[in-house]
Amino acid sequence: MHEYPLIAKQKNNQHDYIKYPLIIAGPCSIENLEDMKEYCELLLKNNIHYVRAALFKPRTSPHDFQGLQEVGLFILKKLKELYPIKLVTEVTDSKQLELIQPYVDVIQIGARNMQNFELLKKVGKTDKVILLKRGFANTIDEWLGACEYIMENGNSNIILCERGIRTFDSELRNTLDLAGAVYTKQLTNLPVIIDPSHATGRSSLIEPLSLASLSAGLDGIMIEIHKNPQSALSDGAQSITLPAFQNLIDKINKLLSNN
Ligand code: PEP
Ligand code: MN
Repeated sequence: MHEYPLIAKQKNNQHDYIKYPLIIAGPCSIENLEDMKEYCELLLKNNIHYVRAALFKPRTSPHDFQGLQEVGLFILKKLKELYPIKLVTEVTDSKQLELIQPYVDVIQIGARNMQNFELLKKVGKTDKVILLKRGFANTIDEWLGACEYIMENGNSNIILCERGIRTFDSELRNTLDLAGAVYTKQLTNLPVIIDPSHATGRSSLIEPLSLASLSAGLDGIMIEIHKNPQSALSDGAQSITLPAFQNLIDKINKLLSNN
């Protein structure tokens, strides 16, 4: 492993830019304002302050839904006007970064851009919290190298997110590297969360893996929810329904109050 002096300076794991447990939930991509309002209200009712609010979707096929893109910016603006909620949005280039910056609180660097070094430098120069997802074919060393790039440009407010890596098994979308996530937290003292939605591709696995990650001492989860997963414009199979989400939150609250 390389030496990463800026990461090594992170002395404790009580970071003031996140509130434990860090729960980020919302649809894979923003579909319309009305649904987003419903999601935000459900989250806030549960004292959860981070919503997934993606407008720019990196999709494997160019024929799949690419997100609302620029035309959806008004939704970010409206949500910030209506609710005390933090918006989590992925960007894949610097043009998008400029567009979303006035509205978002957390900038997501997705798996496919984990080693887009020019983009890492740019988000490192912002004062936003950066959610850095692990690339699906990247080592922990490479993940931390990406993190160091952001820090090197002045921003240490980073959340690391393990979202599954590609292995020989194709039954699930990816393989959740839970051990790697826990080890990364031990190595860095930074907040580390998991995204069981993209890690597995299956809604039935969201609850057990969420509970497992919190039991293992990780800082939180990022999950996809949808009011009607069958009709979701992207990633419906891995999105949980709103009642399932409520049930999961109740279980998380119970788990954490017993600790
Ligand atoms: C996402 O969270 O919307 C996403 C595309 O995830 P990943 O980059 O982990 O595939
Ligand atoms: Mn998705």
